[in-house]
Amino acid sequence: MRFAIFGDIHANLEAFQVVLTDAQEQGCRGFICLGDIVGYNANPRECLDLVRQLDCAAVVKGNHDDYVATSTPLNHFNSLAQIAIQWSREQLTAEAKNWLWTRPLVAFYDSLTLVHATLDDPSSWGYVLNQLDAAASFTWQKTPICFFGHTHVPRLYVHGTTVAGFPFKELRIEPNKQYFINVGSVGQPRDGDPRAAYAIFDREAGTVQLRRLPYDIERTQAKIIAAGLPLKLAERLSLGK
Ligand code: ZN
Repeated sequence: MRFAIFGDIHANLEAFQVVLTDAQEQGCRGFICLGDIVGYNANPRECLDLVRQLDCAAVVKGNHDDYVATSTPLNHFNSLAQIAIQWSREQLTAEAKNWLWTRPLVAFYDSLTLVHATLDDPSSWGYVLNQLDAAASFTWQKTPICFFGHTHVPRLYVHGTTVAGFPFKELRIEPNKQYFINVGSVGQPRDGDPRAAYAIFDREAGTVQLRRLPYDIERTQAKIIAAGLPLKLAERLSLGK
């Protein structure tokens, strides 16, 4: 069985639709969402509905999901994120917010652990940016593979005798190693490549493949501007950062 593993959709409908079409064409029958369905871009309702229709094997909660679902003060977010979260709160029904709010911080499926940010302290929304950060998560990882998101930068961390981190395109899972894999962002990539990112996990073949897909960025940008969201949120999509 092949699984599409995606996260940080951030209400970017055009990017998400391209990802789902590709996943179907690539024979994915399972879907796993790593959180941050909403925030930043202009289609939170539509993206949330699509995730719910997929009947995902697991959906974990991201920090934007958490804050959009509540009225918690947003002091520690930068102003762009604050404006977008505030706007997104007005777009979702109480039922939709409740669904977001009730997603788990960590989920388990098959041989997989799933988390948005870190395994050592998932509710603090820390960033795994290097081997040291990854090592802290590995101390809590009990399965061979954990998929995560949050940084919007695809990255592979491998725990063999030491912890190493690399950019990756495709990998084969080896026994006696653990893998902590960031699948990048569907809706707001930040690694300098503006194309939507997600990964395909092939359980039987024991492979993980990173996919990058162009989408209609101009359409997403026009929607952001029409919604009255900050222009910078539109501009950054072309830059991939
Ligand atoms: Zn995010």
